[in-house]
Amino acid sequence: MSEKRKYKKRYCKYCEQKVDFIDYKDIASLKYSLSERFKIMPRRLTGNCKRHQDMVTIAIKRSRAAALIPYTVSRKVIAGASHEER
Ligand SMILES: [Zn+2]
Repeated sequence: MSEKRKYKKRYCKYCEQKVDFIDYKDIASLKYSLSERFKIMPRRLTGNCKRHQDMVTIAIKRSRAAALIPYTVSRKVIAGASHEER
């Protein structure tokens, strides 16, 4: 339980900061919603509201297309796995 401290807050971080637009170049903001393997964190962990989660998702996808963040960490790391989780 305790190692999830970063995400214990249930309110939306972006609402708190009155963010109206999430820039895909703002990696620091996006990283909050990314796991260490650069997967998008689910809303139940970040506490983001639906509106901001959607914005984050779009920003992350743009950011990936612009090669600012990787899609996923190299699949070679999980070479033992025969299937992919999506
Ligand atoms: Zn919000």
